[in-house]
Amino acid sequence: MAISPRGERILPDERLPLGGIRAYMPALMSQSQSHIAFPHRHLLGIEGLKAQDITALLDAADEAVSLSRQVEKKRSILRGRTQINLFFEASTRTQASFELAGKRLGADVMNMAVANSSVKKGETLIDTAATLNAMRPDIIIVRHHCSGAVDLLSRKVSCSVVNAGDGAHEHPTQALLDALTIRRTKGRIQGLTIAICGDVAHSRVARSNILLLTALGARVRVVAPSTLLPSGIDRMGVEVHRTMRDGLRDADIVMMLRLQLERMSGAFVPSLREYAHFYGLDEDKLSYAKPDALVMHPGPINRGVEIDSAVADGPRSLINEQVEMGVAVRMAVLEALSHHLRKE
Ligand code: ASP
Ligand code: ASP
Repeated sequence: MAISPRGERILPDERLPLGGIRAYMPALMSQSQSHIAFPHRHLLGIEGLKAQDITALLDAADEAVSLSRQVEKKRSILRGRTQINLFFEASTRTQASFELAGKRLGADVMNMAVANSSVKKGETLIDTAATLNAMRPDIIIVRHHCSGAVDLLSRKVSCSVVNAGDGAHEHPTQALLDALTIRRTKGRIQGLTIAICGDVAHSRVARSNILLLTALGARVRVVAPSTLLPSGIDRMGVEVHRTMRDGLRDADIVMMLRLQLERMSGAFVPSLREYAHFYGLDEDKLSYAKPDALVMHPGPINRGVEIDSAVADGPRSLINEQVEMGVAVRMAVLEALSHHLRKE
């Protein structure tokens, strides 16, 4: 008899095959009550989460995947609740993903795109927070171009806050969806060799992934030219490589990052062509990794820069799976925070 991640016994016929692995799903996200053990009121980053918090979210997200594949996808865990998506930086997929996640759980979702208004930092952010707070939302999802802005906002409002990306700091739901994608395709995270390649210096995706994957026991490498490595990266418990040949050797997962040209002041790479030549993932460089290595990218991709179309659209690419897992992970996060929403 097998034991589920929550310690219950599973009868063989209750085990469902999912993406090649067997995952345990009790009652497919119960209608109106959450059973996720998650002790935090906000999700501001992966930093500060315990391995068990992360695993609880991933287990719940597995259930949300099954729910999302049904014709009837709605639950009522957030019925009557208001979710505001506050995006100070343009986004299509993350915002859409949070919107779908909230709606599938029954929330009323409002999108506020403030990306194009003349927002000034500091005072205006706090003013915005006060205005929104007066509308009595239950959850605010925030993306902001400054590291730390989401944390600051969370101190000024009385509802739960989720970080949807703040500057080059953290993007916790991206790391969670990446972990879910890896766990479902490889069956585990512990012991895998995962190479995170490219613009690590400007990447909140890299930071959140390093924190999460090392917490769950993966061997994490970063691969980049010195100009794209943040100082102190070696203190994050990762191996540092400067060539794709070394960094990809025997990797199970190759995670590419977008070259964040909009966050660069000055020249970090000699030219895009040269960058693509040395660090762009093509079939040749992918052959340094394990024969069954899989490729990931958070999107949006710069075709022909950090990744070749043949790889991005090829059989080893998990890019579309990542998008599907994004909705599920965000449902799990919203569900987990629902315990902490005000009751009156
Ligand atoms: N930045 C990308 C987009 O706008 C993905 C994301 O939102 O995280 O689609
Ligand atoms: N979509 C991810 C982010 O918003 C990655 C990227 O934009 O390159 O951080």
